[in-house]
Amino acid sequence: MSGRLVVSSPKNLGSERRVAAETALRLYGLSSVELELEEDPAKSYINTLRGQVEALRLVETLSKDTEPHVLRLHVTGLDIYFNDYYFCFGLAFKNAAVVSIFRLRDSQLGKFLSRLRKEVGHEIGHLLGLKHCTNPRCVMFFSNSILDTDFKGEEPCPKCRLQLARSGER
Ligand SMILES: [Zn+2]
Ligand SMILES: [Zn+2]
Repeated sequence: MSGRLVVSSPKNLGSERRVAAETALRLYGLSSVELELEEDPAKSYINTLRGQVEALRLVETLSKDTEPHVLRLHVTGLDIYFNDYYFCFGLAFKNAAVVSIFRLRDSQLGKFLSRLRKEVGHEIGHLLGLKHCTNPRCVMFFSNSILDTDFKGEEPCPKCRLQLARSGER
């Protein structure tokens, strides 16, 4: 699969950024360039009434700041939301996406990392053109809660795989 991916995060999320880059390569064959940022750009989009980041405004900006043929994934430690949802784990818009680790944390590191791989795999799936999938075990299933994330697998289901293969042929 072609296309270049830039995976960014603030300094303190270096290991999470690495996990995201590894996930992109393992799941989709996408190699990436890692970008360590001094400041988390998500900070600029905090809705002070909610104390959460407006994810859509953030990804719109990331998309504008990224060349059209390049994909961008940002990992933030801040809590994010979208529209009327109380929160979201991630959001994709055009060629840019964000994943928040805020609600993925767990006392078990393995569980946290698995959640991170799932949310990263989900958002990159969107960047590659995949929509939500009705299979609750598929990584493209929409997570309404962390229970959905824990239930789903880390990989796209055969149907989503087929769709990716088809869009790659175009
Ligand atoms: Zn989604
Ligand atoms: Zn699927």
